[in-house]
Amino acid sequence: MKGRHISLVLLPTSRCNAACDYCFEDRTHDQLSQEGLQVIIGKLLDHMDGHSIEELTIHWQGGEALLLPPDWYRRAFAFIEDAAAARGKRVAHGLQTNLLAYGPTWDPIIFEMFGGTVSTSVDYPNRHRKVPGRGPEHYDALFARKLEMARAAGIDVKAIAVPNQATLAIGAARFCGHLVEVLGITDFQINTPFPGGAPNAVKRDLCLDLAELTRFHCELADVWLGGESADRVRIGPFDQLLDYFLHREARLPCIWGPNCADELICVDARGTVSQCDCWVTSYPEQHFGNIFDGDSLSDLLRGSRARERFLERPARLMQGECLECEYLALCHGGCPVRTYSLRGRLFEKDPYCELYAALFQHIAGWAARLSARAVRPDGPRP
Ligand code: SF4
Ligand code: SF4
Ligand code: SF4
Repeated sequence: MKGRHISLVLLPTSRCNAACDYCFEDRTHDQLSQEGLQVIIGKLLDHMDGHSIEELTIHWQGGEALLLPPDWYRRAFAFIEDAAAARGKRVAHGLQTNLLAYGPTWDPIIFEMFGGTVSTSVDYPNRHRKVPGRGPEHYDALFARKLEMARAAGIDVKAIAVPNQATLAIGAARFCGHLVEVLGITDFQINTPFPGGAPNAVKRDLCLDLAELTRFHCELADVWLGGESADRVRIGPFDQLLDYFLHREARLPCIWGPNCADELICVDARGTVSQCDCWVTSYPEQHFGNIFDGDSLSDLLRGSRARERFLERPARLMQGECLECEYLALCHGGCPVRTYSLRGRLFEKDPYCELYAALFQHIAGWAARLSARAVRPDGPRP
């Protein structure tokens, strides 16, 4: 592994209180024990020592992370703080939750461990997010209530949204208006869909027309940057791309990193190690191993042929059309799991290539116009 920072996507439970049609997780009853957590953290800190890595970010996900009780997190947090301090490491924590199990008992640990910020998932119009046996309307009502409670407690709620056919049909302005003005979510990120996990009818239709999806992305960027809300709203990955093209420090999403295998691993409640949560239950043939086997995480990662293929991917893509691409230094061939789930191969560029290239060009245009406007502040709004 390279660099001074590593991210761990930790799935302490595979249980979930929702039943989303497009879920790529195998929702079982597995749950991580405190003893198991201590083994994982100990081996990860050994690995960090061996590679001179100073900083760790743990992204707590699931299943649904809030199905473990607050006290479980209190104990986990205390253990990790002590173990990291003893090695001179810094650890930050992030929480991804559907919020359905949220209540006031969570507030102390959300503020203490997660800095008062959580990330949730929201689709609009919702077609696929459901609780077992109920329709999307029921989910939306429950979600809105929990969102309101969390915000009333002072929690900063960010969100990830996955567009569907209905999202494209209503258009970017209505989509953005609903999230910002109706739900009050002013910091969200758009993710592209992919059909991970066991196939079903919804997943077969999950991938949208690429030209329509590209148009939606560009229109959403225009709605954001051309409207009155640009100062109080953040929309990823547009904001990071804007930083990139304005030559500011940019924290681009993992899909455009030089190689996600250099920066991130995922461990689930059974100890399965894989590239990220998208691989754990969807693609067992791509697992790196089990962290509870053997003595060393470094040995496990070094000895994994599956991980070696991830590491090889950028160089292999350079032998194809990515080499000629003007955005290669920004995109690096895109996301392995989107390629694998849609093409069944790893050594191929991301199937959303066309969308990425158009979006890069679009945001680069905005960056140029915003720069020009900064030089001429009384000039017309770009
Ligand atoms: S909330 Fe997440 S883990 Fe649970 S069913 Fe929905 S997509 Fe799957
Ligand atoms: S496979 Fe894709 S989503 Fe997973 S870490 Fe790599 S770039 Fe990110
Ligand atoms: S935009 Fe397309 S061609 Fe360019 S680097 Fe990304 S995947 Fe490769």
